[in-house]
Amino acid sequence: MRQDQEDPYQRRSAQVYAAADRAGSGSVASPRPVLYDAVLLDRDGTLIEDVPYNGDPEKVRPVPGARAALDRLRAAGLRLAVVTNQSGLARGYFTGEQMRAVHARVEELLGRFDAWLVCPHDDADGCDCRKPAPGLVYAAARELGTTPSRCVLVGDIGRDVGAAMAAGAAGVLVPTPVTRPEEVAAAGWVATDLPAAVAEILRRQQAVQPSTPPSEPVRTALVVRSDSAGDVLVTGPAIRAVAAGAERVVLLCGPRGRAAANLLPGVDEIIEHPLPWIDPAPGPVDPEAMRSLSARLGAVGADQAVVFTSFHQSALPLALLLRMAGIDRIAAISDDYPGSLLDVRHRVPVGVPEPERALSLAAAAGHRLPEGDEPVLRLRRDAVPPRPADVGDPGYVVLHPGSAASSRACPPEVATRIVGALADAGHRVLVTGGPDERAVTARVAAAGGTDLGGRTDLAGLAAIVADASAVVVGNTGPAHLAAAAGVPVVSLFAPTVPFGQWGPYRVPTVRLGDAAAPCRDTRAASCPVRGHPCLSGVDPGDVLDALRTLAVSGGGGR
Ligand SMILES: [Zn+2]
Repeated sequence: MRQDQEDPYQRRSAQVYAAADRAGSGSVASPRPVLYDAVLLDRDGTLIEDVPYNGDPEKVRPVPGARAALDRLRAAGLRLAVVTNQSGLARGYFTGEQMRAVHARVEELLGRFDAWLVCPHDDADGCDCRKPAPGLVYAAARELGTTPSRCVLVGDIGRDVGAAMAAGAAGVLVPTPVTRPEEVAAAGWVATDLPAAVAEILRRQQAVQPSTPPSEPVRTALVVRSDSAGDVLVTGPAIRAVAAGAERVVLLCGPRGRAAANLLPGVDEIIEHPLPWIDPAPGPVDPEAMRSLSARLGAVGADQAVVFTSFHQSALPLALLLRMAGIDRIAAISDDYPGSLLDVRHRVPVGVPEPERALSLAAAAGHRLPEGDEPVLRLRRDAVPPRPADVGDPGYVVLHPGSAASSRACPPEVATRIVGALADAGHRVLVTGGPDERAVTARVAAAGGTDLGGRTDLAGLAAIVADASAVVVGNTGPAHLAAAAGVPVVSLFAPTVPFGQWGPYRVPTVRLGDAAAPCRDTRAASCPVRGHPCLSGVDPGDVLDALRTLAVSGGGGR
């Protein structure tokens, strides 16, 4: 029996292509796009040239290619809104009437927008709509009849990207000469200009939607995601897409990902086996173990295999093993020439979020998420145990200082100061960590939190995270548990891997830490730079500000 039969998010394959079939008869609209319903656009410096505090319609000059780019979005069925800070109103530099005249001129030149959202305040007003606060993004999503996570915001400065992320929307930075280098470094998604941003939005939207269903029905699909818990969790949406198009899904994972595999909806059966060539500290390849794995995979009787990997891993050694196991439809991402090892060789540019990267491979293999299943991370409800009673009521902040890779862990002295500051501000803080992190969690929690080090397995941690008002964590598994629970994340993100690929996905997030630190893009497992500078400079005050931006207040509320 399917482990997740009760899960309403699991839809069977019968529905998936119903809309496509109907489209063939020329009557019904295509299914809702998987990723986005709407594009939100900053005004000054993004849509039109930035003329400070402009109240004169005659001075409106669109950026090059703006009209054609916006028309491409409209033609693709995306709704458009402008989200703009206009503190000139608060400062009396122009009137509301002048601003409306400017906006009328913008529409004359660039076409109609479905909504205009304006923050009239100044920084000193402390409103919740002036970017980087997320208020305008929430308001725009509401007015357009969608949710922030189904929006992508395009802007030219860090405030724009910050507002998008804090609402759980995607943010594209299109730098101009006024954009600061640190804003460019911190952004997870950067495009050279507005037309390029639009082209990439449409490309990503298209990439997760298969043009054709699988050529033959899939009875049993073998999906593969080796590596650690975080890797397995971010592959969840893609596995659900495969599950929607197959009668049975068997997941091959490694020992480090097993606990996460147990949490994924859509998986009927798990095979746990190490793939030594994937591991950062690889063991030798044992021919006998490989022969037995090949036999075991052959016994699955899969009529399709989809091999998910990170961008620096090769799917080809396993593809050969799968061929030897007799599987004759294999899909994987491969920049290396796969010869006859793959039937679907898929390629993805660098920088695409891992969940979307995997979804695009599922799409290339003929699968898409069914209508109603959002492309968010998700856990099986029946796999997460009840939260321990002694951790108190929901509404605490979880701080998880550790990581399997020390380069991505929060330095204990920084975590200690953060706990102290959070406690002083009235937050209840739970400090979590694995059994081998007890010394660190004890030391950190002593500053004013509750030490849960070693108390939970991954499922137990998921239960605790799910009732948090926010999680403060590096780039590691619990960040993805928070995303799966829709719990806001203060991401202490070491830039050893791209934030755009590995940042918390489709959940309100504030990124902290030095994104331009020398460890950037090194993929180092232990910090290659003396003093761990990317995270050692995080100020506890910034964590408090981040929680305020995420509307998480001390004293337990959210
Ligand atoms: Zn405001």
